[in-house]
Amino acid sequence: MEILAIANQKGGVGKTTTAVNLAASLSAKRKRVLLIDLDPQGNATTGTGLHKNELALTAADVLLDGVSIAEATVMSPAGFDVVGANKELAGMDITLMGQENSHTLLADALDVLMEDQQNSKKKGYDYIVMDCAPSLNLLTINALVATDGVIIPMQCEYYALEGLADLSQTIERLTELNPKLHIKGVVRTLFDARNTLANDVSQELEAHFGDIMYRTHIPRNVRLAEAPAHGMPVLAFEKNSKGAQAYLQLAAEVIKQSRAAKKQA
Ligand code: ADP
Ligand code: MG
Repeated sequence: MEILAIANQKGGVGKTTTAVNLAASLSAKRKRVLLIDLDPQGNATTGTGLHKNELALTAADVLLDGVSIAEATVMSPAGFDVVGANKELAGMDITLMGQENSHTLLADALDVLMEDQQNSKKKGYDYIVMDCAPSLNLLTINALVATDGVIIPMQCEYYALEGLADLSQTIERLTELNPKLHIKGVVRTLFDARNTLANDVSQELEAHFGDIMYRTHIPRNVRLAEAPAHGMPVLAFEKNSKGAQAYLQLAAEVIKQSRAAKKQA
């Protein structure tokens, strides 16, 4: 089981789109996937066809009430398991402030899940994908403390590199709590190859962070933008679109990385 956090403190860079469509693509490649929504906006939840305000249990119950991840998991219309979120998750920072284990609540819940899966005859998850909120709040910290690696969606804009420095610092700080924590890769999103600035920034990213850049560029693609309105990953309704194909390619890169890491271990 490999845990992936999709994080970037900037909003609108394609985190949720990446979480939903990467989860769908891994699932299409016959991997067993659980998507955990950690953003009170609940966009990843609705993006898989679930009604975020009709869920009996959500990530808030896991983090605030000690409900197990298994109990809070539902099968989404998109065809893979989801722990949903809605605005109930919004008050978490205040509720948990000062609580001793507030940083490790999700990691503890995932440990329980992993133990259950090891003891069960059924095959467990291959990937757990977590969609983070656009901030470095306690929810995102919980994701970073729980995860094996971070995938950073990044739009090739002028301030992109600055944002990456902030996030890298936070990751650096949290390795004390989570020694496994590292940047698994940066994925260029909303990419427009005809845009000169995007190409310049892309090249700069390549020069500074070449070894952690995914080869796959996710293009700006109208089918990806429409997907939330369908409440479906793009694969489910427009498999041949550039957006769907790009996320399949990203999933292939992620799987290849996992294989290489396993070999090294
Ligand atoms: P974040 O989760 O980082 O805030 P989203 O994934 O919600 O970002 O994306 C922000 C907006 O941009 C959404 O309306 C989404 O549908 C759209 N979007 C994301 N990626 C693409 C893409 N590759 N092509 C076109 N639209 C996209
Ligand atoms: Mg989002």
